[in-house]
Amino acid sequence: MTRLRQASAWRKKNESTTNDETRKVKFRHSAFVIVSSFVIRTSSFLFSAIFPTALQAEENVSVLGSKPKWSVLEKYQETITHDEFNRLIHDVYCTHGFAPDLIEVSAKTAHVLIDRDSQKFFTLRFAVNNAGRKPVPHLWRPAKSLSPARADKPLVGLKVVLDPGHLGGKWAKMEERWFQVDKSRPVQEGDLTFRVARLLAPRLREFGAKVSLIRSGGEPVTAKRPDDFRELARKILIKNGVPLPREDVLDPNDPAKEQTIRWQSEILFYRYSEIRRRAALVNFKLHPDLVLCLHFNAEGWGEPTHPTLTDTNHFHLLVNGSYLAEELEFDDQRFEMIRRLLSRAYDEELPLADTIALTMARETGLPAYEYPTTNSTTKVGMSGYVYARNLLATRLYRCPVIYCEPYVMNSNDAFVRIQAGDYEGTRLINGVERKSIFREYADSVAEGLVDYYSKARARGD
Ligand SMILES: [Zn+2]
Repeated sequence: MTRLRQASAWRKKNESTTNDETRKVKFRHSAFVIVSSFVIRTSSFLFSAIFPTALQAEENVSVLGSKPKWSVLEKYQETITHDEFNRLIHDVYCTHGFAPDLIEVSAKTAHVLIDRDSQKFFTLRFAVNNAGRKPVPHLWRPAKSLSPARADKPLVGLKVVLDPGHLGGKWAKMEERWFQVDKSRPVQEGDLTFRVARLLAPRLREFGAKVSLIRSGGEPVTAKRPDDFRELARKILIKNGVPLPREDVLDPNDPAKEQTIRWQSEILFYRYSEIRRRAALVNFKLHPDLVLCLHFNAEGWGEPTHPTLTDTNHFHLLVNGSYLAEELEFDDQRFEMIRRLLSRAYDEELPLADTIALTMARETGLPAYEYPTTNSTTKVGMSGYVYARNLLATRLYRCPVIYCEPYVMNSNDAFVRIQAGDYEGTRLINGVERKSIFREYADSVAEGLVDYYSKARARGD
């Protein structure tokens, strides 16, 4: 990857910096590229470090990723027609295009590059037509394959995993998911999402769902800690033109802190290692039919101890898709994209996300978030609130995943409601009788699930 391409990737990602996954730091970018935004994807800084060179083609995988086993895709032979494959790849997964030498679609087959050096390809054979299509194998169950349910238990038997985003507690400052206005209670996203999950779990169980939380408190799921990544952090920095990286951040407001071993090893811990560990739990232990990733959004708040509050408030939902051309260059991301496409998770995610979007819009009264550019996201579905985007969690969890991003935490309205905490019934907040923000969030997601599964699965009464 050339310096020029890194720079353009940086600009692309930085044009839309208002998302939750933006790190709330101001920084100057120096001679080489450092990316503060969208670190939940592979940040370009880490990205460029692992990007293949002639010397390390065998390591052409993203941060903490592993070499894909392409043979597992054999089970998808003849499970999809040419037209269906084309629709999903162009309208959902590769909306920004892809290099012609990575994926080649012909009438009967698709060839997907396994390894550029050896020029090996995986060949997918299409079903001749819909009637000749073999069943799609997956461990999760689509709504229509669930056994019939009684009208008052539309979620009976459904296995749902709730993934409250981030860690919270003592980790919130490290995650840069923390701000405090004067002497008010600090706002820590990981604690807010956990609160929503604790309210949402019993709501879903009332309707018959089997629900588990991916974390039981503010502690990480990964057993690793930042110190475990110091060597990798050092290597990444050296590869990116910092020959003698500093160990520690001396001044937390110094934008050059991203060039320290501490900062890099921390993000490897709380973002990459943590989400990969959660994915292992989802994929190898919990085997849910659906994962709900719970987040709160934010607009850039500047100094966490003197944060900017804004009148802007909105929400949106994300499903996996919209891979960037440079992300598809990674062997593991290209493989995971194809596996996800073939699993047809999208066929379940999209109508479910659209349904949840409508109940959330009704309950919260929030407008749809509009990304300032379409460089990393693609609007999908009918509701106007749902985007496709390649986030680590939506890519790695091998089942339908809905990633919720309601409320701007540092909006004047949400801030007051967060400070009011959780309560029963309604209270007068900013002149309006409202539920607690946590209950409103949980209730509106639960309503969306009830609406969707009531219609999508067979009735048993
Ligand atoms: Zn978040």
